[in-house]
Amino acid sequence: MPELPEVEVTRLSFADRIAGARIDAVRMGKPLRWPLGCDAASLVGRTVRAVRRRGKYLLLDLDRGLLLLHLGMSGSLSFAHRTDPPGPHDHFDLVTTNGVLRLHDPRRFGAVVWAEGESSAVATKLLGGLGVEPLTDDFDAQRFHAALKRRHAPIKQVLLAGDIVVGVGNIYASEALFIAGIRPTTRASRISAPRAARLHAAVRDVLSRAVQTGGSTLRDFSNAHGESGYFQLEAMVYDRAGEPCRVCGTPIRMIRQGQRSTFYCPQCQKP
Ligand SMILES: [Zn+2]
Repeated sequence: MPELPEVEVTRLSFADRIAGARIDAVRMGKPLRWPLGCDAASLVGRTVRAVRRRGKYLLLDLDRGLLLLHLGMSGSLSFAHRTDPPGPHDHFDLVTTNGVLRLHDPRRFGAVVWAEGESSAVATKLLGGLGVEPLTDDFDAQRFHAALKRRHAPIKQVLLAGDIVVGVGNIYASEALFIAGIRPTTRASRISAPRAARLHAAVRDVLSRAVQTGGSTLRDFSNAHGESGYFQLEAMVYDRAGEPCRVCGTPIRMIRQGQRSTFYCPQCQKP
């Protein structure tokens, strides 16, 4: 599943190139998770002004309205000058004067949704519940600690919920908790201010390193089709059950939390 760093690297891969382009045609494939919400032909002639990201949504600002794109479970975007016809899993083509933005999505949990503005009902429904962006100054250690104080669920699940801070998916939550030395089952409300500050720094560290690692693969990006974790960091704990901790050698444990696998070192991560 594409996580925040993959979505950000996707954005960086085409944002500059598509800015200023005029939409020449829109081609829709099979239905995605939600309908487009407007007549596709009405987008023709509009200009793409910029591409932003909010959580795991990409926001294409048009000269009127915006398109919200989500990659779902298996989606990937490519932007290129192309003449090849769409394949069976290519469900959206935005044909512009600068190239074709194509959504490839075998499982079709992705979406392309038009909204009149960011405060419109449809945009609010998708973006309204999102927490702060982890890589901006809005993500503040003290406010993070205060928000954790109000939550009694295990910290890993609080991170995954995305309403305090967005985009910390399963891999990055496990890794950040390892770096911060916090057991994933620890109740969020019990985490002290110094430990919350360590976790805050760790979340920023793992996500920004993943964006950087992904950024270095940008040259190949037009061919990449979003295989999960294709620019994953060398994991400290994620997917390493039974293998020795890279710090202390204790075997990494795996547990289930809310249907998701969690990995941690019982020695390095304290409850
Ligand atoms: Zn360890």
